[in-house]
Amino acid sequence: MSGDDELSLLVVVIDTNPIWWGKKALGEAEFTLSKCIDAVMVLGNSHLLMNRNNKLAVIASHTQESRFLYPGKHWAVADLFGDGGGSMESNCSGSRDGKYELLTAINDAIAEEIKDLMTKTEMKGQQTETQLAGSLAKALCYINRMSKEVKANQEIKSRILVIKAAEDSALQYMNFMNVIFAAQKQSVLIDACVLESDSGLLQQACDITGGIYLKVLHMPSLLQYLLWVFLPDQEQRSQLVLPPPIHVDYRAACFCHRNLIEIGYVCSVCLSIFCNFSPICSTCETAFKISLPPVMKAKKKKLKLAV
Ligand SMILES: [Zn+2]
Ligand SMILES: [Zn+2]
Repeated sequence: MSGDDELSLLVVVIDTNPIWWGKKALGEAEFTLSKCIDAVMVLGNSHLLMNRNNKLAVIASHTQESRFLYPGKHWAVADLFGDGGGSMESNCSGSRDGKYELLTAINDAIAEEIKDLMTKTEMKGQQTETQLAGSLAKALCYINRMSKEVKANQEIKSRILVIKAAEDSALQYMNFMNVIFAAQKQSVLIDACVLESDSGLLQQACDITGGIYLKVLHMPSLLQYLLWVFLPDQEQRSQLVLPPPIHVDYRAACFCHRNLIEIGYVCSVCLSIFCNFSPICSTCETAFKISLPPVMKAKKKKLKLAV
């Protein structure tokens, strides 16, 4: 097996939710967004140094948008495959410390984009949730594009690493599940590194696609976790003793209230999940012409009276 015909693409999705990071900065100054970005840069640089065929992309998952931190608008596809280099050199400040120029250019680009994103964000109304499902969809689109652009004899292996900060958004449940199944179909691995509260959605994503789900116990040591667990690719992982798989919370969110439920009603037409019985499905508007058993009717009446 020659290493030349196999490309490994790592897409890192960072949760840059300004509210969550703002709260963190107020609480403990030890771990900030810039420290997290630094850790991601080290991981990205290490990934690129492992093999000259390795590729990297970094996406910021924000409250109103998902943005490519690298490669940004200034990077041509030729640069990414290493046979161009024109535009890359022009916006690269050059390395003063003997560091590989490409890494300097990438790190500068990431720092610039994240600065731009954080300073230009205006918080509008109640949009406080991270657009994680959208960012994952963007990552999958990018992976799809890259897999079309490789040379005929090359094979591309892709994985996504999510660094998750803020809490799950139940409103994104549907989009999130669709993204997970799309990733599984394209055999894209999803790994998750969770900083604070556990994420049921990401647990399912990792379980379905064969990735690793890890909750960081001590945030300031994020880099160690990244290099130890998430730098090795799928093949190398079988040789390592990694954290054991976690118990996955497979409860689904009902479409009516977005509550997590264990037992519910499922529409036989569109598979929407509801916590209460309703004769008309609110998603696909199918009317169910079933006569309810008398016990159910009695129960419903009782419920109404209680309200
Ligand atoms: Zn409900
Ligand atoms: Zn339905």
